[in-house]
Amino acid sequence: MRYFSCDCTSADGNPVALFFENTQCLSCQRQVGWCFEERDMLVFDQNKDGGFHYKGRDYVPCANRANGVCNAMIPADTISAKPALCFACHFNDNIPDLNVDGHAELWGNLERAKRRLLFTLDSLSLPMPDKQQSPEGLSFHFMADKDASDHFRTPLTHVAAVFTGHAQGDITINLAEADDVARHRMRVDMGEQYRTLLGHFRHEVGHFYWDLLIKPDEAKLTQFREIFGDPDLSYQEALDKHYARDPDDQSWRSEFISAYASMHPWEDWAETFAHYLHIIDTLETAREWDLIDFGKYAGLTLPQDDGPCDPQRLIDCWSEFSVKLNALNRSMGLPDAYPFVNNPVVVGKLKCVHSMLNKTR
Ligand SMILES: [Zn+2]
Ligand SMILES: [Zn+2]
Ligand SMILES: [Zn+2]
Repeated sequence: MRYFSCDCTSADGNPVALFFENTQCLSCQRQVGWCFEERDMLVFDQNKDGGFHYKGRDYVPCANRANGVCNAMIPADTISAKPALCFACHFNDNIPDLNVDGHAELWGNLERAKRRLLFTLDSLSLPMPDKQQSPEGLSFHFMADKDASDHFRTPLTHVAAVFTGHAQGDITINLAEADDVARHRMRVDMGEQYRTLLGHFRHEVGHFYWDLLIKPDEAKLTQFREIFGDPDLSYQEALDKHYARDPDDQSWRSEFISAYASMHPWEDWAETFAHYLHIIDTLETAREWDLIDFGKYAGLTLPQDDGPCDPQRLIDCWSEFSVKLNALNRSMGLPDAYPFVNNPVVVGKLKCVHSMLNKTR
């Protein structure tokens, strides 16, 4: 994520940082918001009629800004339909029932993670067709279990609940994943070291890009088979085998980034794809906040930058930085931010994701 700041100065004379999620500058109190069209955080002057203006152009808040779930602002001269929805919100096919207490807050958590996902996909210049552009275009379905107690039952696999997943561009996320307590419980039940909303979005969109970029491309499919294995293996058999496995069996660690990745080549791809986004986004943040010296890595450039990116330097830089990141977390009494080991096999898979994505640019 890039570094953003307001044009005002704080009492101590320093620039005032704006987070990607902010709706207001906490120093000068002006309204701020993310603009997908301008690819920037904008700070607005508001006239007496309450309209939003930036550098002589009029802006309109995304309709979901009023719901407190979106901070996006849209150039007024680009709006063709009502209600005015931003680039992120226009992909929504199903949103939670807002008459239910607590749903608006959980939906807000989902939208914040989704905007970060779309920011990174855009910075990689990846195609993001919607359902108008293609029947297999992207859409989001945020669904709640009929019985909210479903996600507190174990084992989870035996519950007729909403499953987080991807099919033909439709990404479904169970609203319970946006609830910190429910998600923590699921993470423990599933024996996972890491489970976040952003991680879910990055994983599911990995399936979307497999369908969009790899499935129809014979050369890419051949490369995929060499690195990840046969995508035509029975998914149901793999799933059954995965849930029947001995949880103490750690043999996956020599070749996969997570136990789930070892289930099927599709899941290996989606997990690795998610990790690739974790790595490049966190390294961008580290660079933007002056936490890292890329000069040490022969002037490393990131895949989001113009110009070529050397994947080995990217991995070397991440190996050093992820340890520092974990050390910072431990100083705060928090679990490791990146509780994973990128062994040589996993690094080969990350490089494969890198080359597949860069070929599309
Ligand atoms: Zn300000
Ligand atoms: Zn929006
Ligand atoms: Zn998956």
